[in-house]
Amino acid sequence: MEREIALIQVQYDKAGRSCPVIACDVCGTVLKAGKGIYVYPSTGAEDTVPVHLLCKGDCDRAFQGKYGETRFGELPALLGFLAHNSGTTLKSIKENIITAESL
Ligand SMILES: [Zn+2]
Repeated sequence: MEREIALIQVQYDKAGRSCPVIACDVCGTVLKAGKGIYVYPSTGAEDTVPVHLLCKGDCDRAFQGKYGETRFGELPALLGFLAHNSGTTLKSIKENIITAESL
């Protein structure tokens, strides 16, 4: 089966345990804090726009030009916004996750 690049992927370990991770839209690399950014078009209007996750550097540069003006942020900020806007808390997140590092 051809490997698909998707924003959210599930990573399996040798024991068959699974853990969701986020991946670069361009190359599919699993993104870690400090190595990835989120980018979205700046419309300046009331709108909902797609968000792209990218490796800093080559993938970020390859992506430039897809949209006119863009905004971006660091990965931890995106995760914080997603947690907050989904109505959860950091305490709840800590209690319910198995980290990718434990795979
Ligand atoms: Zn990449």
